[in-house]
Amino acid sequence: MSQKVNTKEITDLIRGLVSIPSPSGNTEQVIRHVDEYFNKLGLETKRNHKGGLLVTLPGENDDRHRFLTAHVDTLGAMVKEIKPNGRLKLTMIGGFRWNHVEGEYCQIETADNKLFTGTILMHQTSVHVYKEAGNAKRDENNIEVRIDERVESEQDVKELGISVGDFVSFDPRVEITESGFVKSRHLDDKASVALLMHVIKLLKEEGTKLPFTTHFLISNNEEIGYGGNSNIPNETEEYLAVDMGAIGDGQTTDEFTVSICAKDSSGPYHLGLRKHLENLSKENHIEYRIDIYPYYGSDASAAIRAGFDLKHGLIGPGIDASHAFERTHETSLLHTARLIYHYLKSDMNS
Ligand SMILES: [Zn+2]
Repeated sequence: MSQKVNTKEITDLIRGLVSIPSPSGNTEQVIRHVDEYFNKLGLETKRNHKGGLLVTLPGENDDRHRFLTAHVDTLGAMVKEIKPNGRLKLTMIGGFRWNHVEGEYCQIETADNKLFTGTILMHQTSVHVYKEAGNAKRDENNIEVRIDERVESEQDVKELGISVGDFVSFDPRVEITESGFVKSRHLDDKASVALLMHVIKLLKEEGTKLPFTTHFLISNNEEIGYGGNSNIPNETEEYLAVDMGAIGDGQTTDEFTVSICAKDSSGPYHLGLRKHLENLSKENHIEYRIDIYPYYGSDASAAIRAGFDLKHGLIGPGIDASHAFERTHETSLLHTARLIYHYLKSDMNS
């Protein structure tokens, strides 16, 4: 029963996931973490060459398949240059604004897996020194990392083992409030990965067989556009991406319901599948919003672009201030988990 959805377990899973750095391109550790969870449930997993994780639940009907995905990769950065003053210049991984990471603590991982901490700052930060501290442009040239080591030159930094190409991840600063809010970076899309993990666990505990063989891909390249566009078996008819719902002016999505996407930058999602998700929500008293995301693409649209013939859909929890200071509420997680659960057990009639 979807009544068994446990938001405490979901938020615990989220805390675990966001605490493991995983910018796109460096996701091995977090994938291993999810893999261990599935293995503990007694599930067999597979890895693709890109590093993503696949789990298949066999269904009563093995001729028609479903495919669901959520992505575990996040925004981040890479060392682009070591400056003569011992600070690091960054290049972005994924799409965000520099002002959304200004002041954030970060971690630098060297090629030989040494970890250093630092802070992402404007070069002109000190108001006692820089007259233009407030209005200097937040860009690649002015944003730099102050490493928490005694370094004053490029040579000092190199001696630590830090070099161009090292991954830089942002402190998630995860907090779960008494009022039920989950505040953290990277809720996009680790909140959805946690939802898939939890729903798979519920299904496993129930021991019921799904109506259709269903594949789950924990994708690791979504933020850079090509996470879930491969490893889709020929029998797959429906492809559902579980990824964040976008909140802002004019949006219906909020932090308390599940968002069902009608259209994003890639165009409309499959109408039949969207209606099916809407009907399931109505039948099961799941609170939902139909919405349009103006600047957005998903692994489902990536799969369509890659040439797969699928009915594609997109649902997810509402995430405020996405790709920046993200937040959602446990009720949005609850409704999203319940919709995933009922969808998995539903007939394929879209
Ligand atoms: Zn996402």
